[in-house]
Amino acid sequence: MPHIETLAVHAGAPASRDAGAVTAPIHLTTTFEREPDGSYPAGHVYARTTNPNRAELERCLAALDGGADAAAFASGQAATTAVFQALGPDAHVVAAADTYFGTGLVLREIFARWGLSVAFVDATDLDAVSAALGRAPERARRLVWIETPSNPLLRITDIAAVVERARRAGALVACDNTWATPVLSRPLAFGADLVMHSTTKYLGGHSDLTGGVIVTRTLAGDAGALFAAVRAVQQRAGAVPSPFDCWLLLRGVRTVALRVRAQSANALAVARFLADHPAVEAVHYPGLPTHPGHAIAERQMCADGEPRFGGMLSVQIRGGRDAAMRLAARCRVFTRATSLGGVESLIEHRASNEHPETTTPQNLLRVSIGIEHADDLVADLAQALEM
Ligand SMILES: *Cc1c(COP(=O)(O)O)cnc(C)c1O
Repeated sequence: MPHIETLAVHAGAPASRDAGAVTAPIHLTTTFEREPDGSYPAGHVYARTTNPNRAELERCLAALDGGADAAAFASGQAATTAVFQALGPDAHVVAAADTYFGTGLVLREIFARWGLSVAFVDATDLDAVSAALGRAPERARRLVWIETPSNPLLRITDIAAVVERARRAGALVACDNTWATPVLSRPLAFGADLVMHSTTKYLGGHSDLTGGVIVTRTLAGDAGALFAAVRAVQQRAGAVPSPFDCWLLLRGVRTVALRVRAQSANALAVARFLADHPAVEAVHYPGLPTHPGHAIAERQMCADGEPRFGGMLSVQIRGGRDAAMRLAARCRVFTRATSLGGVESLIEHRASNEHPETTTPQNLLRVSIGIEHADDLVADLAQALEM
Protein backbone atom coordinates (compact mmCIF):
# COMPACT_ATOMS: atom_id res chain seq x y z
CA MET A 1 0.00 0.00 0.00
CA PRO A 2 1.33 3.51 -0.74
CA HIS A 3 2.20 5.63 2.32
CA ILE A 4 -0.48 7.85 3.82
CA GLU A 5 1.09 11.06 2.41
CA THR A 6 0.78 9.62 -1.10
CA LEU A 7 -2.75 8.33 -0.55
CA ALA A 8 -3.83 11.67 0.91
CA VAL A 9 -2.63 13.47 -2.22
CA HIS A 10 -3.70 10.99 -4.90
CA ALA A 11 -6.55 8.77 -3.67
CA GLY A 12 -9.89 9.79 -5.14
CA ALA A 13 -8.35 11.56 -8.13
CA PRO A 14 -11.04 12.41 -10.69
CA ALA A 15 -11.83 9.65 -13.17
CA SER A 16 -11.45 12.03 -16.12
CA ARG A 17 -9.60 15.31 -16.58
CA ASP A 18 -11.73 17.94 -18.24
CA ALA A 19 -9.67 20.39 -20.30
CA GLY A 20 -6.50 18.88 -18.82
CA ALA A 21 -7.19 20.38 -15.38
CA VAL A 22 -4.95 18.90 -12.67
CA THR A 23 -7.50 19.45 -9.90
CA ALA A 24 -11.03 18.07 -9.76
CA PRO A 25 -13.98 20.13 -11.01
CA ILE A 26 -16.99 20.75 -8.74
CA HIS A 27 -20.03 19.13 -10.32
CA LEU A 28 -22.88 21.42 -9.27
CA THR A 29 -25.55 19.30 -10.89
CA THR A 30 -28.42 17.47 -9.25
CA THR A 31 -29.17 15.22 -12.21
CA PHE A 32 -27.32 13.33 -14.98
CA GLU A 33 -28.28 12.87 -18.64
CA ARG A 34 -29.25 9.44 -19.98
CA GLU A 35 -28.02 8.01 -23.26
CA PRO A 36 -30.63 7.33 -25.97
CA ASP A 37 -30.55 3.66 -24.94
CA GLY A 38 -31.51 4.65 -21.36
CA SER A 39 -28.12 4.02 -19.80
CA TYR A 40 -26.09 6.46 -17.63
CA PRO A 41 -22.58 6.84 -19.07
CA ALA A 42 -20.83 7.67 -15.76
CA GLY A 43 -23.15 5.62 -13.56
CA HIS A 44 -24.67 8.66 -11.80
CA VAL A 45 -28.44 9.24 -11.92
CA TYR A 46 -29.39 11.74 -9.23
CA ALA A 47 -27.01 13.64 -6.92
CA ARG A 48 -28.46 12.47 -3.58
CA THR A 49 -27.85 8.84 -4.57
CA THR A 50 -24.37 9.28 -6.03
CA ASN A 51 -22.38 12.08 -7.62
CA PRO A 52 -18.80 12.51 -8.88
CA ASN A 53 -17.50 14.71 -6.03
CA ARG A 54 -18.86 12.42 -3.32
CA ALA A 55 -17.55 9.33 -5.12
CA GLU A 56 -14.04 10.84 -5.28
CA LEU A 57 -14.16 11.77 -1.60
CA GLU A 58 -15.42 8.34 -0.55
CA ARG A 59 -12.66 6.57 -2.51
CA CYS A 60 -10.06 8.71 -0.78
CA LEU A 61 -11.45 8.30 2.74
CA ALA A 62 -11.78 4.52 2.30
CA ALA A 63 -8.13 4.36 1.20
CA LEU A 64 -6.84 6.44 4.12
CA ASP A 65 -8.34 4.09 6.70
CA GLY A 66 -7.49 0.98 4.68
CA GLY A 67 -11.16 0.15 4.15
CA ALA A 68 -13.17 -1.46 1.37
CA ASP A 69 -15.66 1.41 0.96
CA ALA A 70 -16.88 4.61 2.60
CA ALA A 71 -20.13 6.55 2.89
CA ALA A 72 -19.91 10.33 3.37
CA PHE A 73 -22.49 12.29 5.35
CA ALA A 74 -23.46 15.91 6.00
CA SER A 75 -22.05 15.77 9.55
CA GLY A 76 -20.35 13.40 11.96
CA GLN A 77 -23.64 13.06 13.80
CA ALA A 78 -25.43 12.07 10.58
CA ALA A 79 -22.79 9.37 10.04
CA THR A 80 -23.15 8.06 13.61
CA THR A 81 -26.94 8.15 13.36
CA ALA A 82 -26.85 6.17 10.10
CA VAL A 83 -25.08 3.28 11.85
CA PHE A 84 -27.73 3.02 14.58
CA GLN A 85 -30.52 3.39 11.99
CA ALA A 86 -28.86 0.62 9.98
CA LEU A 87 -28.84 -1.68 13.02
CA GLY A 88 -32.60 -1.41 13.53
CA PRO A 89 -34.66 -1.06 16.70
CA ASP A 90 -34.11 -4.56 18.10
CA ALA A 91 -30.37 -4.19 18.46
CA HIS A 92 -28.35 -3.92 21.64
CA VAL A 93 -25.38 -1.58 21.53
CA VAL A 94 -22.55 -1.44 24.04
CA ALA A 95 -21.05 2.06 23.96
CA ALA A 96 -18.10 3.59 25.76
CA ALA A 97 -19.38 5.78 28.60
CA ASP A 98 -17.06 8.64 27.63
CA THR A 99 -17.92 8.57 23.95
CA TYR A 100 -18.47 12.01 22.33
CA PHE A 101 -21.37 13.54 24.23
CA GLY A 102 -23.42 13.98 21.02
CA THR A 103 -23.20 10.21 20.44
CA GLY A 104 -24.60 9.63 23.94
CA LEU A 105 -27.34 12.17 23.26
CA VAL A 106 -28.65 10.51 20.08
CA LEU A 107 -28.53 7.10 21.76
CA ARG A 108 -30.38 8.34 24.86
CA GLU A 109 -32.78 10.81 23.28
CA ILE A 110 -33.57 9.38 19.85
CA PHE A 111 -32.71 5.70 19.63
CA ALA A 112 -33.88 4.71 23.14
CA ARG A 113 -37.35 5.98 22.17
CA TRP A 114 -37.13 3.84 19.04
CA GLY A 115 -36.42 0.71 21.10
CA LEU A 116 -32.71 0.27 20.53
CA SER A 117 -31.11 -0.69 23.82
CA VAL A 118 -27.74 0.61 24.91
CA ALA A 119 -25.38 -0.11 27.77
CA PHE A 120 -22.71 2.48 28.54
CA VAL A 121 -19.52 0.93 29.91
CA ASP A 122 -15.93 1.83 30.68
CA ALA A 123 -14.41 0.50 27.44
CA THR A 124 -10.94 0.38 29.01
CA ASP A 125 -12.35 -2.35 31.29
CA LEU A 126 -12.54 -5.38 28.97
CA ASP A 127 -14.48 -7.53 31.44
CA ALA A 128 -17.11 -4.78 31.68
CA VAL A 129 -17.43 -4.86 27.86
CA SER A 130 -17.88 -8.66 27.89
CA ALA A 131 -20.36 -8.49 30.76
CA ALA A 132 -22.48 -5.84 29.02
CA LEU A 133 -22.54 -7.94 25.83
CA GLY A 134 -23.44 -11.04 27.85
CA ARG A 135 -26.48 -9.36 29.40
CA ALA A 136 -28.17 -8.96 25.97
CA PRO A 137 -29.89 -11.82 24.12
CA GLU A 138 -27.42 -13.34 21.66
CA ARG A 139 -29.38 -12.27 18.59
CA ALA A 140 -29.49 -8.63 19.75
CA ARG A 141 -25.74 -8.33 20.47
CA ARG A 142 -24.85 -6.33 17.45
CA LEU A 143 -22.31 -3.60 18.05
CA VAL A 144 -19.68 -2.19 20.38
CA TRP A 145 -19.07 1.54 19.84
CA ILE A 146 -15.72 2.86 21.01
CA GLU A 147 -13.75 6.08 20.68
CA THR A 148 -10.05 6.56 21.33
CA PRO A 149 -8.58 8.90 22.51
CA SER A 150 -11.80 9.82 24.29
CA ASN A 151 -13.38 13.15 24.97
CA PRO A 152 -12.42 15.13 27.05
CA LEU A 153 -10.09 13.03 29.25
CA LEU A 154 -8.09 11.43 26.42
CA ARG A 155 -8.56 7.93 27.76
CA ILE A 156 -7.13 5.20 25.52
CA THR A 157 -9.10 2.09 24.57
CA ASP A 158 -7.22 -1.00 23.32
CA ILE A 159 -9.01 -1.51 19.98
CA ALA A 160 -7.67 -5.03 19.26
CA ALA A 161 -8.60 -6.22 22.77
CA VAL A 162 -12.17 -4.88 22.47
CA VAL A 163 -12.46 -6.49 19.02
CA GLU A 164 -11.45 -9.84 20.52
CA ARG A 165 -14.13 -9.58 23.25
CA ALA A 166 -16.78 -8.45 20.75
CA ARG A 167 -15.98 -11.28 18.31
CA ARG A 168 -16.35 -13.85 21.10
CA ALA A 169 -19.84 -12.47 21.79
CA GLY A 170 -20.76 -12.30 18.09
CA ALA A 171 -20.82 -8.48 17.91
CA LEU A 172 -19.22 -6.03 15.49
CA VAL A 173 -17.04 -3.08 16.51
CA ALA A 174 -17.30 0.52 15.32
CA CYS A 175 -14.59 3.00 16.28
CA ASP A 176 -14.92 6.78 16.26
CA ASN A 177 -11.47 7.63 14.89
CA THR A 178 -12.01 11.40 14.75
CA TRP A 179 -9.34 12.30 17.31
CA ALA A 180 -6.67 9.81 16.26
CA THR A 181 -7.14 10.25 12.48
CA PRO A 182 -5.96 7.62 9.97
CA VAL A 183 -2.56 9.30 10.04
CA LEU A 184 -1.98 7.96 13.57
CA SER A 185 -4.31 4.99 13.97
CA ARG A 186 -6.15 2.60 11.63
CA PRO A 187 -8.77 0.78 13.71
CA LEU A 188 -9.70 -1.47 10.75
CA ALA A 189 -6.18 -2.94 10.85
CA PHE A 190 -6.83 -3.88 14.50
CA GLY A 191 -9.98 -5.73 13.43
CA ALA A 192 -12.64 -3.04 13.90
CA ASP A 193 -15.46 -3.40 11.37
CA LEU A 194 -16.46 0.23 10.89
CA VAL A 195 -14.63 3.51 11.39
CA MET A 196 -16.48 6.76 11.91
CA HIS A 197 -15.01 10.26 11.53
CA SER A 198 -16.37 13.70 12.07
CA THR A 199 -14.61 15.06 8.98
CA THR A 200 -15.44 18.52 10.37
CA LYS A 201 -12.29 18.06 12.44
CA TYR A 202 -8.84 16.87 11.28
CA LEU A 203 -9.76 15.55 7.84
CA GLY A 204 -11.29 18.88 6.78
CA GLY A 205 -8.66 20.55 8.93
CA HIS A 206 -9.56 24.21 8.39
CA SER A 207 -12.71 24.75 10.51
CA ASP A 208 -14.71 25.61 7.40
CA LEU A 209 -16.94 22.60 6.71
CA THR A 210 -19.18 20.09 8.50
CA GLY A 211 -19.08 16.42 7.48
CA GLY A 212 -18.86 12.80 8.54
CA VAL A 213 -17.97 9.41 7.13
CA ILE A 214 -18.38 5.70 7.80
CA VAL A 215 -15.61 3.45 6.43
CA THR A 216 -16.04 -0.33 6.31
CA ARG A 217 -13.30 -2.95 6.62
CA THR A 218 -15.07 -5.33 4.26
CA LEU A 219 -18.08 -5.71 1.99
CA ALA A 220 -18.52 -9.35 3.05
CA GLY A 221 -20.27 -10.99 6.01
CA ASP A 222 -22.03 -9.22 8.88
CA ALA A 223 -19.86 -6.11 8.63
CA GLY A 224 -20.52 -5.86 4.89
CA ALA A 225 -24.26 -6.26 5.47
CA LEU A 226 -24.23 -3.53 8.12
CA PHE A 227 -22.33 -1.22 5.77
CA ALA A 228 -24.81 -1.94 2.96
CA ALA A 229 -27.56 -0.83 5.34
CA VAL A 230 -25.56 2.33 6.19
CA ARG A 231 -25.26 3.03 2.47
CA ALA A 232 -29.03 2.60 2.06
CA VAL A 233 -29.67 5.08 4.91
CA GLN A 234 -27.27 7.53 3.25
CA GLN A 235 -28.87 7.30 -0.18
CA ARG A 236 -32.51 7.08 0.91
CA ALA A 237 -32.64 9.21 4.05
CA GLY A 238 -30.31 11.67 2.33
CA ALA A 239 -28.18 13.38 5.03
CA VAL A 240 -25.52 13.87 2.37
CA PRO A 241 -22.80 16.51 1.91
CA SER A 242 -23.07 18.87 -1.06
CA PRO A 243 -20.67 18.50 -4.01
CA PHE A 244 -18.93 21.68 -2.82
CA ASP A 245 -18.48 20.29 0.71
CA CYS A 246 -17.05 17.07 -0.76
CA TRP A 247 -14.64 19.04 -2.90
CA LEU A 248 -13.57 21.28 -0.02
CA LEU A 249 -13.08 18.29 2.28
CA LEU A 250 -10.97 16.44 -0.28
CA ARG A 251 -8.87 19.60 -0.67
CA GLY A 252 -8.30 19.64 3.11
CA VAL A 253 -7.44 15.93 3.20
CA ARG A 254 -4.50 16.46 0.81
CA THR A 255 -2.44 17.93 3.70
CA VAL A 256 -3.77 15.87 6.62
CA ALA A 257 -0.56 13.89 7.24
CA LEU A 258 1.55 17.05 7.48
CA ARG A 259 -0.95 18.84 9.69
CA VAL A 260 -1.51 15.99 12.14
CA ARG A 261 2.22 15.42 12.60
CA ALA A 262 2.81 19.11 13.27
CA GLN A 263 -0.15 19.20 15.66
CA SER A 264 1.13 16.10 17.49
CA ALA A 265 4.61 17.61 17.95
CA ASN A 266 3.14 20.91 19.16
CA ALA A 267 0.73 19.16 21.53
CA LEU A 268 3.57 17.18 23.12
CA ALA A 269 5.51 20.41 23.72
CA VAL A 270 2.45 22.11 25.24
CA ALA A 271 1.61 19.06 27.38
CA ARG A 272 5.15 18.94 28.76
CA PHE A 273 5.06 22.65 29.58
CA LEU A 274 1.69 22.39 31.33
CA ALA A 275 2.68 19.25 33.26
CA ASP A 276 5.51 21.20 34.94
CA HIS A 277 3.46 24.32 35.78
CA PRO A 278 2.50 24.88 39.44
CA ALA A 279 -0.96 26.30 38.53
CA VAL A 280 -1.85 23.04 36.76
CA GLU A 281 -3.57 20.22 38.64
CA ALA A 282 -3.49 17.61 35.85
CA VAL A 283 -2.69 17.29 32.15
CA HIS A 284 -4.41 14.61 30.08
CA TYR A 285 -2.29 13.75 27.05
CA PRO A 286 -1.48 10.17 25.97
CA GLY A 287 2.00 11.23 24.85
CA LEU A 288 3.06 11.82 28.46
CA PRO A 289 4.64 8.66 29.99
CA THR A 290 2.57 9.30 33.14
CA HIS A 291 -0.73 8.95 31.20
CA PRO A 292 -2.45 5.63 32.10
CA GLY A 293 -3.03 4.78 28.41
CA HIS A 294 0.48 5.70 27.26
CA ALA A 295 1.70 2.14 26.56
CA ILE A 296 -1.39 1.21 24.53
CA ALA A 297 -1.28 4.54 22.68
CA GLU A 298 2.37 3.93 21.82
CA ARG A 299 1.55 0.76 19.89
CA GLN A 300 -1.88 1.83 18.62
CA MET A 301 -1.14 5.39 17.46
CA CYS A 302 1.78 4.62 15.19
CA ALA A 303 0.18 3.91 11.80
CA ASP A 304 3.18 5.50 10.06
CA GLY A 305 5.74 3.59 12.14
CA GLU A 306 6.44 6.24 14.76
CA PRO A 307 4.15 6.78 17.76
CA ARG A 308 2.45 10.19 17.80
CA PHE A 309 -0.32 11.18 20.13
CA GLY A 310 -2.46 13.69 18.28
CA GLY A 311 -3.29 17.34 18.68
CA MET A 312 -5.87 17.11 21.50
CA LEU A 313 -5.19 17.50 25.19
CA SER A 314 -7.05 18.67 28.26
CA VAL A 315 -5.81 20.40 31.36
CA GLN A 316 -7.25 20.87 34.85
CA ILE A 317 -6.38 24.20 36.47
CA ARG A 318 -5.93 24.75 40.21
CA GLY A 319 -8.63 27.09 41.54
CA GLY A 320 -11.70 25.51 39.95
CA ARG A 321 -14.02 26.77 37.25
CA ASP A 322 -13.21 30.48 37.69
CA ALA A 323 -9.48 29.95 37.35
CA ALA A 324 -10.05 27.86 34.20
CA MET A 325 -12.33 30.53 32.70
CA ARG A 326 -9.78 33.25 33.57
CA LEU A 327 -6.98 31.35 31.87
CA ALA A 328 -9.04 30.91 28.68
CA ALA A 329 -9.99 34.61 28.78
CA ARG A 330 -6.32 35.68 28.88
CA CYS A 331 -5.18 33.65 25.86
CA ARG A 332 -4.25 35.64 22.75
CA VAL A 333 -3.03 33.03 20.26
CA PHE A 334 -5.61 30.40 21.29
CA THR A 335 -9.17 31.19 20.23
CA ARG A 336 -11.97 30.46 22.73
CA ALA A 337 -14.23 28.14 20.75
CA THR A 338 -15.47 24.58 20.72
CA SER A 339 -14.54 22.02 18.01
CA LEU A 340 -11.07 20.84 17.06
CA GLY A 341 -8.74 19.66 14.36
CA GLY A 342 -8.28 22.95 12.49
CA VAL A 343 -5.00 24.69 11.71
CA GLU A 344 -5.65 27.24 14.50
CA SER A 345 -5.37 26.41 18.22
CA LEU A 346 -8.62 26.48 20.21
CA ILE A 347 -9.29 26.45 23.95
CA GLU A 348 -12.61 25.56 25.48
CA HIS A 349 -14.22 25.39 28.91
CA ARG A 350 -15.74 22.01 28.18
CA ALA A 351 -18.27 21.45 30.99
CA SER A 352 -20.27 24.57 30.08
CA ASN A 353 -20.57 23.34 26.50
CA GLU A 354 -22.03 19.96 27.54
CA HIS A 355 -25.33 19.17 29.28
CA PRO A 356 -25.92 20.35 32.87
CA GLU A 357 -25.38 16.87 34.41
CA THR A 358 -22.00 16.43 32.75
CA THR A 359 -19.27 14.65 34.71
CA THR A 360 -16.58 16.73 32.98
CA PRO A 361 -14.58 18.50 35.73
CA GLN A 362 -15.44 22.21 36.06
CA ASN A 363 -11.76 23.18 36.12
CA LEU A 364 -11.04 21.44 32.79
CA LEU A 365 -10.05 23.20 29.60
CA ARG A 366 -10.00 21.22 26.37
CA VAL A 367 -7.33 22.29 23.95
CA SER A 368 -7.08 21.64 20.21
CA ILE A 369 -3.53 22.34 19.11
CA GLY A 370 -3.01 23.89 15.69
CA ILE A 371 -0.03 24.24 13.40
CA GLU A 372 1.33 27.52 14.82
CA HIS A 373 4.89 27.45 16.23
CA ALA A 374 5.06 25.47 19.48
CA ASP A 375 7.04 28.25 21.21
CA ASP A 376 4.29 30.78 20.51
CA LEU A 377 1.64 28.42 21.91
CA VAL A 378 3.68 27.76 25.06
CA ALA A 379 4.41 31.50 25.50
CA ASP A 380 0.71 32.32 25.17
CA LEU A 381 -0.25 29.80 27.86
CA ALA A 382 2.64 30.94 30.05
CA GLN A 383 1.47 34.58 30.04
CA ALA A 384 -2.15 33.50 30.56
CA LEU A 385 -1.13 31.37 33.56
CA GLU A 386 0.51 34.35 35.33
CA MET A 387 -2.72 35.14 37.15
C1 LIG B 1 -17.22 16.50 16.58
C2 LIG B 1 -17.27 15.07 16.89
C3 LIG B 1 -18.37 14.28 16.52
C4 LIG B 1 -19.61 14.87 15.84
O1 LIG B 1 -19.34 15.35 14.58
P1 LIG B 1 -20.12 16.59 13.88
O2 LIG B 1 -19.39 16.76 12.60
O3 LIG B 1 -20.00 17.76 14.83
O4 LIG B 1 -21.52 16.18 13.70
C5 LIG B 1 -18.33 12.93 16.80
N1 LIG B 1 -17.28 12.37 17.44
C6 LIG B 1 -16.21 13.11 17.82
C7 LIG B 1 -15.09 12.42 18.53
C8 LIG B 1 -16.17 14.47 17.57
O5 LIG B 1 -15.11 15.19 17.98
